Amino acid sequence: MEPLTENQLVQLRQALDARLAQLEEQLAAELVTDGLPVQEVETSPADKATNRLLNDLAIEAREHLTAQMTAVRKALAKFDDGSYGLCEQCGNDIGFARLLARPEAGLCITCQARLEKR
Ligand SMILES: [Zn+2]
Repeated sequence: MEPLTENQLVQLRQALDARLAQLEEQLAAELVTDGLPVQEVETSPADKATNRLLNDLAIEAREHLTAQMTAVRKALAKFDDGSYGLCEQCGNDIGFARLLARPEAGLCITCQARLEKR
């Protein structure tokens, strides 16, 4: 795998910045409801179960967004120490095509596949 060129690095960094802004917007929209979307009021047990499910989904969505933001921030931090684009496991180049699809990727395709097989 070829190391990233200066232009490619700039392009990927811009993609990460845009992704982070997008995630922040999504998370802000999620939090607008301030707390859980469904409040526990006087409800039947069946309603309570539904409410709990909706709340769980909302929490899950937020956790997913937060996890993605963490991954993007981590990737951005790697630009500072020059390790961006290198696999965290084996140290090989992750490759531009893969990074273009997933700029926050921390593993090369080989290590990622190995991880998912476990
Ligand atoms: Zn690797």
